[in-house]
Amino acid sequence: MNIQSFIPPQRTLMGPGPSDVSARVLSALARPTIGHLDPLFVGMMDEVKALLQYAFQTKNEFTIALSAPGSAGMEACFVNLVSPGDSVVVCRNGVFGQRMVENVTRLGATAIVVDCEWGRAVDPQMLEQTLAHHPEAKFVAFVHAETSTGALSDAKALCEIAHKFDCLTIVDAVTSLGGVELKVDEWGIDAIYSGSQKCLSCVPGISPISFNDKAVAVIKNRTVPVQSWFLDQSLVMAYWSGEGKRSYHHTAPVNSLYALHESLVMLKNEGLENSWERHATLHAELAKGLKGLGIEFIVPENERLPQLNSVFIPEGVDDAAVRNYLLAHYNLEIGAGLGQFAGKAWRIGLMGFTARYENVALCLAALEDALKQA
Ligand SMILES: *Cc1c(COP(=O)(O)O)cnc(C)c1O
Repeated sequence: MNIQSFIPPQRTLMGPGPSDVSARVLSALARPTIGHLDPLFVGMMDEVKALLQYAFQTKNEFTIALSAPGSAGMEACFVNLVSPGDSVVVCRNGVFGQRMVENVTRLGATAIVVDCEWGRAVDPQMLEQTLAHHPEAKFVAFVHAETSTGALSDAKALCEIAHKFDCLTIVDAVTSLGGVELKVDEWGIDAIYSGSQKCLSCVPGISPISFNDKAVAVIKNRTVPVQSWFLDQSLVMAYWSGEGKRSYHHTAPVNSLYALHESLVMLKNEGLENSWERHATLHAELAKGLKGLGIEFIVPENERLPQLNSVFIPEGVDDAAVRNYLLAHYNLEIGAGLGQFAGKAWRIGLMGFTARYENVALCLAALEDALKQA
């Protein structure tokens, strides 16, 4: 056996994540590894916290980068906040909503599901009706940007309804953070999680999370201990809290956090609003070009995610053949359909560093060519 270094090709990543990682972020990753309790590293972690507070638009003290992917951020919210026997209203309009349901039921809690059409935003009226029938509900959970379908839900409206019924909100912002408007404090989001590899365009494997005081109080007042040791945030809080002595909990992914720091500095320098604007502008460009190719969107225009464009595969076209052609001839990755849309849709990502005009042009030209071949 003669195994050599692995040298990946230079792809353009226009799928549902990971997105393209800039040379700037990749070079941050290659800086010298230092100890995770080194005072300089601790200082950098405090800056990551501050930058995440900016990205989330929150003053929440408990805002950290979990050392695990977005799925762990999801699980961290549920295992810490929900106790066995609790009732949780989960809005389900795609694959990630379904995963929330599974998280709730595995905890021995009850999921009250608001089933919404795939490819559409969550219907606020359906949530309101469900809450009116379920006074026992303690939490409302929903996915802000459903990456499986490309639908954007009105997080502000959903949070307002949840609070009217005295429920805390758990929000999946894995794909939304950095790509569309998101205001944690203004909208009253109680617990939120995201991912490093979507619109932040960092390497995969980190999940930014933020809990407000109400959510932290729920964790502190638990009578049943969190069943996951690693995700128990009452232990992690001591590791990330800035003041004075920080105690060992686990070894942070030191170099990945350099990369996250760099990607957040890039976001801060660009400005959040400018980043949202850039995603919207490039989405419009892509949509115009796709229309020219006769390709139809799944999601109605006013519910679409700019950073994840889900479209119907044209009649008679071989899904895998086209995606393989794009990869082989253009080093271009687009996403396959997921769940109900498997084999029926493509998902074209314009996330973070990928959201540049040259990529829109490449994708349109490559798709046109691939469809001619098909
Ligand atoms: C990608 C994604 C996740 C999962 O994140 P991983 O980093 O793949 O674990 C969760 N929710 C949504 C909406 C996502 O797009």
